[in-house]
Amino acid sequence: MAELLRGAPVANALCEAPAREAAALAKKGVVPALAIVRIGERPDDIAYERGATKRCEKVGVRTRGLLLPADVPQDGLAAALRELNADAAIHGILLLRPLPAGMDEDALRNIVSPAKDVDGATDLSSLGIFTGKGDCMAPCTAQACMEILDFYGVDLKGKRAVVVGRSLVVGKPVAMLLLERHATVTIAHSRSADLPAICRNAEILIASAGRAGCIDRSCLSPGQIVLDVGVNADENGGLCGDVDFGDALEIVAAVTPVPGGVGAVTASVLAKNTVAAAKRASQ
Ligand code: NAP
Repeated sequence: MAELLRGAPVANALCEAPAREAAALAKKGVVPALAIVRIGERPDDIAYERGATKRCEKVGVRTRGLLLPADVPQDGLAAALRELNADAAIHGILLLRPLPAGMDEDALRNIVSPAKDVDGATDLSSLGIFTGKGDCMAPCTAQACMEILDFYGVDLKGKRAVVVGRSLVVGKPVAMLLLERHATVTIAHSRSADLPAICRNAEILIASAGRAGCIDRSCLSPGQIVLDVGVNADENGGLCGDVDFGDALEIVAAVTPVPGGVGAVTASVLAKNTVAAAKRASQ
């Protein structure tokens, strides 16, 4: 029976130092503050905003929700982002995505000031992650995977890691973070030939395809550490990951549950990054 790598203890441990730093900053009159920009009423955005707000409050990060209507023109969103960039009381900006169809997401996410890019959304942050230079922040979900591996003492050096998914939000950055830590990394995607064989060969498997159950027993092998990033609706209206959880429990060494795994850590990374951005801004 696989060990469960739960996110809650990781999230709690991760917030200890930032909470102390936030308190110290507050004493100097700097309250770390995060703006959460939401467009429209997508239920998963609302849920993420709620979770992030709660976690930030615990750490001592003030949040400011900015809700724009689903039909906000692109110029309106761009102006709102520029205003937040110029607002000295805001240290981090989270733009909830995907943006409504028809918006130029590439252009809009790159408006966020690099100093306030606490979710690693800009191309400049990606560049930092890919070059390993500068003190850019990785997308919170990618960083959350690393925090889980570190918390549970998973040694990465020289290990075969497979990342399923190649998005800029999860797959590519987490692959770079693993590489930085000396894992031997393979990135698989929807056109990869023989995905099961690629996955079975992994010692560390990160599933971020966004396809319920696409990682089943044919992709798993004994001894593996499996992180399930996927968040999908199951047939009962609940949440499930990309990994067939029953198969994983039976076969691998350790697996993150969904919900309660990677997703439970993401908001803590966001809070931590906002405190770090506030600290940087105050220096
Ligand atoms: P995305 O942009 O849709 O990317 C999905 C990636 O998976 C693509 O690279 C795609 O390949 C690949 N893929 C799709 N189906 C596949 C298959 N059957 N076999 C192999 N690869 C496949 O999604 P994303 O934004 O990276 O998010 C991925 C998942 O993570 C989603 O379920 C999302 O909800 C979840 N997520 C969770 C958190 C969290 O905090 N837990 C945060 C963000 C996202 P191609 O490039 O070839 O199309």
